[in-house]
Amino acid sequence: MKHITHGLVGEVKATPPRTGGGGFTLIELLVVIAIISILAALLMPALKRARDAAKSVNCMSNLKQLGLAAMLYANDNNRSFPHYNGHPTVPFWYSVGPDSFFAGKYLYNRPTNSNALELGSVFDCPLLKDGWGNLDHPYNSECLYVSLNSIRSPSKKILFCDGAYYFINNDTPGTLPHWDTAARYHPNGKMNAVFVDGHVESLGRQDIDDAKFEMD
Ligand SMILES: [Zn+2]
Repeated sequence: MKHITHGLVGEVKATPPRTGGGGFTLIELLVVIAIISILAALLMPALKRARDAAKSVNCMSNLKQLGLAAMLYANDNNRSFPHYNGHPTVPFWYSVGPDSFFAGKYLYNRPTNSNALELGSVFDCPLLKDGWGNLDHPYNSECLYVSLNSIRSPSKKILFCDGAYYFINNDTPGTLPHWDTAARYHPNGKMNAVFVDGHVESLGRQDIDDAKFEMD
């Protein structure tokens, strides 16, 4: 029997390969965009946490320098920390003058005819920008008239901490919320503080509530 194959074998044609620049369909592009969006959403919080942690280290370094400067000042001034206010002869702690805390002797060189705190100084906290002013590390007003020799448990007494004012204490209404808010801007809800013994620590909400400022 004669097999007739003509017209069948060899007439099946392969699908021609795609040519030209149109490599992806719209669906493929949408899938790629969706995957990139998901990856970005996963990475962004981690990147922000890493960036905030680096800024918090910078904040702690600034506080450390403030603590060291205050200690140098105390050693030159009868073991007394800078006065925060109200002394008849000793300058206000951030006033400018030949013997003040800011005169360049203890913190940085600056013109003595300027009363403005310098931006970018150790008084800045990189996490408390935008509306917090340029004084982010208030000073414990309980240091007024206190001799370094009389302070018990110096590792438990705050000298400077995060906040948005020029001083802090326990009994001034409205100052405590400043450092409560400051804590929320820092990693893990912990704000930073330097203590009288010179160590720097991150304080959580409970630590802030329990903090003692009296220099007794
Ligand atoms: Zn800070």
